[in-house]
Amino acid sequence: MRILVTGGAGFVGSHLIDRLMTDGHEVICLDNFYTGHKRNILRWLNHPRFELIHHDITDPIRLEVEQIYHMACPASPVHYQYDPIKTVKINVMGTLNMLGLAKRVHARFLLASTSEVYGDPTVHPQREDYRGNVNPIGIRSCYDEGKRIAETLTFDYHRQNSVDIRVARIFNTYGPRMLENDGRVVSNFVIQALQDIPLTVYGDGSQTRSFCYVSDLVEGLMRLMNRAYIGPVNLGNPDEYTILELATVVQKLVNPKVKIEFAPLPEDDPRRRRPDTTKALTWLSWQPTVPLQQGLKLTVEDFRERLLVSSPKNHLSSTPTP
Ligand code: NAD
Ligand code: UDP
Repeated sequence: MRILVTGGAGFVGSHLIDRLMTDGHEVICLDNFYTGHKRNILRWLNHPRFELIHHDITDPIRLEVEQIYHMACPASPVHYQYDPIKTVKINVMGTLNMLGLAKRVHARFLLASTSEVYGDPTVHPQREDYRGNVNPIGIRSCYDEGKRIAETLTFDYHRQNSVDIRVARIFNTYGPRMLENDGRVVSNFVIQALQDIPLTVYGDGSQTRSFCYVSDLVEGLMRLMNRAYIGPVNLGNPDEYTILELATVVQKLVNPKVKIEFAPLPEDDPRRRRPDTTKALTWLSWQPTVPLQQGLKLTVEDFRERLLVSSPKNHLSSTPTP
């Protein structure tokens, strides 16, 4: 099959491309390297079934494909808040362009949406029929509301133009190739532990998240794309940890001597988050298989290798380098 992956040079997109290429598909990666890197797709660059197009999805493009995985969008709070207007444009104009493409060539379209559509949830765990508690004017809104309108557009193209759609609501995902400077909790803690810098727990660390290893997520995305259920469907690991628990796990695994320190909680930081994965299990026979300890070990190995080949000073900067 001829498959387009927008944002294919990013963290999740590049792991997805690895699977699609290994399965024998023709893959087009569309990326403007805003938060993605060529090194993530380096191994495929000269492959006859692989094509890389350097393109910003806020501009239209004409391609012939059968499936579209629409992953392009900065995903970490540091990155999507760096240029919030651009984040909205990517979600609105970028998603419109990709849906227009899907409509023109009759491609199946999968939107990488997010648990952030639930905002700071008042219902726990979060089921897909929960409509969320989102601040429309806060610092996370460019992403949260951006993804909500991306979902709206996707369902409107389905109803109005019969576009064949799938919508995945992705919960916190981690693994090798996460950016060193993206400020997400797993990458921050792992790099801090490796560099013997205190782990920065925001707030009192009682807020919770559920962490899905990237290979599990990719399996879920591919099942959703290739089965009949259109979603929205939560894809995430239902094991819930407080951020302080996560810090302790990383500390034990990487560097038992590293300290933990507390820093202010960012504005609008969701208090609790855990997916109800009943729909994924029912419709996709999908559930995560990689336990946190195992996934963290693989992630730590990747960061250790990367830290060896670059200057430690480059890590943990608070601004992205788009
Ligand atoms: P990422 O930042 O690593 O990847 C995003 C990719 O999109 C990058 O390669 C970037 O260069 C590209 N991109 C951004 N703007 C673009 C534009 N205008 N034109 C073309 N390419 C552009 O993020 P990720 O973690 O791989 O996330 C991938 C998708 O999954 C995103 O849509 C994100 O919202 C969603 N998601 C991820 C998570 C997670 O925990 N990783 C959680 C929920 C949702
Ligand atoms: N967090 C933290 N220390 C860090 C980075 C993040 O305590 O160095 C917290 C953050 O406040 C949030 C949780 O970890 O409560 C997850 O943050 P992340 O940015 O990874 O993702 P999101 O908030 O989008 O779920």
